[in-house]
Amino acid sequence: MNFAYTETQQLIRKTARKFAEEKLAPSSIERDEKQEFPHEAVKELGTLGFMGMMVPEKWGGSGLDTTSYVLAVEEISRVDASCGVIMSVNNSLVCYGINEYGTDDQKKRYLCDLAAGKKLGAFALSEPEAGSDASNQRTVAVRDGDCYVLNGTKNWTTNGSTADIVLVMAATDKSKGAKGISTFIVEKGTPGFSVAKKETKLGIRSSDTVSLSFVDCRIPVANRIGEEGEGFKFAMTTLDGGRIGIAAQALGIAQACLDASISYSKERKAFDQPIATFQAIRFKLADMSTNIEAARMLTLNVCMLKDAGQPFGQEAAMAKLFASKVSVQSALEAIQIHGGYGYVREYLVERYLRDAKITEIYEGTSEIQRIVIARSLLK
Ligand SMILES: Cc1cc2nc3c(=O)[nH]c(=O)nc-3n(C[C@H](O)[C@H](O)[C@H](O)COP(=O)(O)OP(=O)(O)OC[C@H]3O[C@@H](n4cnc5c(N)ncnc54)[C@H](O)[C@@H]3O)c2cc1C
Repeated sequence: MNFAYTETQQLIRKTARKFAEEKLAPSSIERDEKQEFPHEAVKELGTLGFMGMMVPEKWGGSGLDTTSYVLAVEEISRVDASCGVIMSVNNSLVCYGINEYGTDDQKKRYLCDLAAGKKLGAFALSEPEAGSDASNQRTVAVRDGDCYVLNGTKNWTTNGSTADIVLVMAATDKSKGAKGISTFIVEKGTPGFSVAKKETKLGIRSSDTVSLSFVDCRIPVANRIGEEGEGFKFAMTTLDGGRIGIAAQALGIAQACLDASISYSKERKAFDQPIATFQAIRFKLADMSTNIEAARMLTLNVCMLKDAGQPFGQEAAMAKLFASKVSVQSALEAIQIHGGYGYVREYLVERYLRDAKITEIYEGTSEIQRIVIARSLLK
């Protein structure tokens, strides 16, 4: 394994860090408090080429590798994890899904604008009764001539109220279970499609999480991705890649915890000396740093497998499982190192904990990642 970054990867990292510190940091606290979506920042991420990083240039993307993408998501999430997930969903779920499984016509009509950051995408698999048990789809799509008629409700859709395009999974043949699900590209403004409820969240509060409603919503057959019945496989393979983005988001939050803890422990004095002189604090920093580096190695490992065209589902689950755990642990330790100041809004570490927790839940909970890993070990 060679983890030395190429010149391009180093440039991506530097550009993402500069953008995050200059453009995201000044407004991140206010946006978190007000649950405000970063419209301007998302446009600028598009201009930087960060919204379709792995899409070929031919289809409006930046034609970069997965490592470059991970470096960018990590740097953005280090400052603003809400922006990290907005970017991750558009890149690794929506753009990846259309690029990998869409027709040339779908790529022309949708991917070019999504990858260039001119449009935003969302991925709607989860439902009130179908989270971990994602094949239990109650949303149905019934064929009627050259359209499907979509009815149902989707829960927890990231980018849902802002998105121009939503990839919707729905049952086209309930009797076939997971093999009776199909994927559709649904445009904002399609009659019968509406945003039902905006969630008030613990963390990643300036990302947009909503439930979506579909009532007799007519979707052209030309907007179905792949064949009928291939939707569950589409969702699961797309989520394998998505988990790499969430591992990178978790890494970014963990790195922010370590950076904040190092500077605070050098400044804060107790018993007439910086708390960084106490072995108890130094050991916490050493453990945080070691765990973060291990999570980074797992994440870079899966990037290399994916870019080499090797199977990577098990490794993606491992990277997300471990990085999300390290993220939550790092945030807890960062709060401990900050003492009482860690518990209040004045310092950012309390937000890091709120932001970190979701990485253990979405795109498959930690329990589901363990199921994926064990299934792969025992096959
Ligand atoms: C902020 C946010 C953003 C999200 N964004 C999106 C999005 O953009 N698109 C989308 O489709 N979804 C999205 N989700 C949904 C997310 O992926 C689900 O919440 C997640 O998969 C868990 O599903 P659930 O909430 O229904 O929990 P459940 O599936 O009900 O799980 C509850 C608990 O039971 C455990 N559990 C369930 N089954 C098993 C099992 N077989 N073995 C062991 N333990 C099990 C789970 O691990 C969990 O601890 C988002 C969620 C949130 C909160």
